[in-house]
Amino acid sequence: MNGLMQQQQLLISSLLTHAERHHGDQQIVSRRVEGDVHRYAFRDLVARSRRAANAMTALGARFGDRVATLAWNGYRHMELYYAVCGMGAVIHTMNPRLHPDQVVWIADHAEDQVLCFDMTFLPLVEAIAGRVKTIKHFVAMTSREHMPASSKIPNLLCYEDLLDAASDRFDWPVFDENTASCLCYTSGTTGNPKGVLYSHRSTVLHTYAAALPDSLNCSARDTILPVVPMFHVNAWSLPYIACMVGAKMVFPGPHLDGKSLHDLFESEGVTLSAGVPTVWQALLAHMEANGLKFSTMRRTVIGGSACPPAMMKAFQERYDVQVLHAWGMTELSPLGTACTLKAKQVELPREERYAIQAKQGRVVFGVDMKIVDPDGKELPRDGKASGELLVRGPWIISEYFKGEGGQPLVDGWFPTGDVATIDTDGFMQITDRSKDVIKSGGEWIGSIDLENIAMAHPAVAMAACIGARHPKWDERPLLVVVKKPGAELTRDALIAFYEGKIAKWWTPDDVVFVDAIPLGATGKMQKNKLREQFKDHRLP
Ligand code: ADP
Repeated sequence: MNGLMQQQQLLISSLLTHAERHHGDQQIVSRRVEGDVHRYAFRDLVARSRRAANAMTALGARFGDRVATLAWNGYRHMELYYAVCGMGAVIHTMNPRLHPDQVVWIADHAEDQVLCFDMTFLPLVEAIAGRVKTIKHFVAMTSREHMPASSKIPNLLCYEDLLDAASDRFDWPVFDENTASCLCYTSGTTGNPKGVLYSHRSTVLHTYAAALPDSLNCSARDTILPVVPMFHVNAWSLPYIACMVGAKMVFPGPHLDGKSLHDLFESEGVTLSAGVPTVWQALLAHMEANGLKFSTMRRTVIGGSACPPAMMKAFQERYDVQVLHAWGMTELSPLGTACTLKAKQVELPREERYAIQAKQGRVVFGVDMKIVDPDGKELPRDGKASGELLVRGPWIISEYFKGEGGQPLVDGWFPTGDVATIDTDGFMQITDRSKDVIKSGGEWIGSIDLENIAMAHPAVAMAACIGARHPKWDERPLLVVVKKPGAELTRDALIAFYEGKIAKWWTPDDVVFVDAIPLGATGKMQKNKLREQFKDHRLP
């Protein structure tokens, strides 16, 4: 016997309709590429999203077609998120930090029909316009007065002109919730980038789960500033969450330096933010150098790579901002786990609470996870056994776009390439990535732990730990370090800094100082490049 409840498709347009009806006067504030601050209300977002849907339809975008963006976090990008998905087309958020050759490859692979871009990326778009195979229309996301006098792009269109010419009446169509909504390519550290194709259903379910108190904890009383880009896994879902809960939204545009962010946090009363550790490092350095505080910031989500404990302490102890450590992947929409304490842990001594917070956290309902040994046998959840992390759930990939890379699942589970422990309370902790693992004498050494210790040294700006070849142990940890400007630090002093903090055999064998560590398009350290660079490094 079936239940007698209504069958309604879970569609992204329903988030917009909800926001219009129940949070119409809530604000969206954007620092624009043009330099000024723009503000309007959710009801304006909805009206303009309808115009944008009409405009895209007029350009020939049809159900299932891909409309690409190269854009910062801002209101026009949010309009396109809703307009394109709402009409049943697919928004393809491209990463502008990629090499132009890669952008061309991705646009061709996605078979994008329209490309909408912020003016910052005009040179990039000019460089690729003659090379991409399927894009018929290029739209500059600006107003007439900011359009370039001339451009190498033939028939360059102006976003505001298109919206002015379009009607604000558009009935969002109802279709199967499994319809594709959004396409993101993973950074592709190995091989070609791979497309992850979300559906309306997976997005709406993920939005519910991500907004929960033990997830990102978002409400109608929040002012949310996503630093994490909208071209990086949908800004971790925050543009969808904002409509679901009615939170005020603040977009930083291209201005992601410490000063610009701090100014915007203060002027707009931001309560919640989200980003990768590298952006927080710059913000904290700016605040420290200028003796600044936060007046409204309460929580920040840190993920994308492990949050160094020193950063966590700085936020919580110096600035009274709660750090929410979270783990996810593009293939997971992205949220997998978030780290909030259970009731029995709240009163634990401070250092014990920090030890828990350093973990990547507990799964949100909807995600199932397990760790396995190299033979695929499930390992115990005892906080000690460490193995490859596998996940499954309704917002986790089943296969890549166009079947690229073959069948990614193993018995219905997606192998994450991360190596982790899971403790008896369900807290998952990443100890390494399977491709970055340092294996010394058959035993794993956690490169992330070694980097965290180095990062806690006052003279260290950035540290990466890689496995260097060793005749006896196969691999030994080598630390690659960028010093803070003007700081003094020797190899021996940094190695001595490890004493007592970890098992002796985990101590890095050597340290090399470099001017910069190569970062990928999403700000992650490219350890594969370092491994290549130091493959002939002779350990002492
Ligand atoms: P995102 O950077 O948004 O999490 P990506 O797909 O680019 O998504 O990268 C996913 C990978 O990033 C994970 O498999 C994991 O290796 C790493 N990662 C993400 N969050 C964390 C975290 N909190 N701690 C350690 N590694 C993380």
